Amino acid sequence: MNAYRGTGQLERAAFTVSLDFELMWGTKDRPYGESFRKLCEIERREVVDRLLALLTEYGIRATWGVVGNLFLKKDHEDPLLYGSELIEKIRRCPVRQEIGSHTMTHAILGAPTCTAAMAERELGDWVRVARANAVDFQTLILPRNRIGHLDIARRHGFRCYRGEEPVWYESQPRVVRRFGHLLAILSARTPVCVMPQENQGMWSIPGSMLYTPAFGLRRYLPVWLRVLRAKRGLNAALRQKRLFHLWFHPTDLTRRTEAMLDGLRQIFERAASLRDAGQLDILPMRDLIPADVESGGQDNAEILSNP
Ligand SMILES: [Zn+2]
Repeated sequence: MNAYRGTGQLERAAFTVSLDFELMWGTKDRPYGESFRKLCEIERREVVDRLLALLTEYGIRATWGVVGNLFLKKDHEDPLLYGSELIEKIRRCPVRQEIGSHTMTHAILGAPTCTAAMAERELGDWVRVARANAVDFQTLILPRNRIGHLDIARRHGFRCYRGEEPVWYESQPRVVRRFGHLLAILSARTPVCVMPQENQGMWSIPGSMLYTPAFGLRRYLPVWLRVLRAKRGLNAALRQKRLFHLWFHPTDLTRRTEAMLDGLRQIFERAASLRDAGQLDILPMRDLIPADVESGGQDNAEILSNP
């Protein structure tokens, strides 16, 4: 457990890995079709196991935002829409992983078309299925990081969520966002290290860097550029005593799998050696909720005022 010093810093620098686990649920509204199905098959068959092995090897407790429908057992249905056996694997990981919500059906809660009734159903259904599976949850990872209906999330017992990366392009249209992100990678710009911030009675744990998938043209971005940026992020976290928060989807490792996993290994190796030297905490998102602050407390003005 980390603690705040009340100065916009953590007691010790921290590293968090969070994952969006959704198989086909995240792309139902996009015309990827057959090619994306193939990637999800690789994710299901191979990538989850190998990622868990890597997390185990380096003793990393990651946060998995899981689409609720994946908990359901519907053997006669599309295996890319259901995944209870994969969730079991995550829960049996010898290094305990955190299970959080990615809504029931991958609903975009921050979309203007998402009503309170829809959000209520998405989160209520998720909580029911999680409780039925004895999942002790605190964390919400909002699909596409679009923030909305936090009041409903809080009412359902969530205490933290992954906030938007604090970069200029995050709130821009998709094309601009892609371009801004590409520039950041190509210039190996140091990712922003963040602090948990209270928002509407929840704690935002903003992302720092997406481990960019090697899909489409992005396959030409060498993996070492991603690794270089992440190592710069870890260094910045040490200097600033803040959090470097890396995130991605297991699906993002399904193209150039060997190279992408090797890149992650290099990042995890560096993080683990800093941890072993006592310089870095590696924590799941829920452990970044300040321990000494009651949910919804009004006595955190110092923390709130940090950028
Ligand atoms: Zn998603």
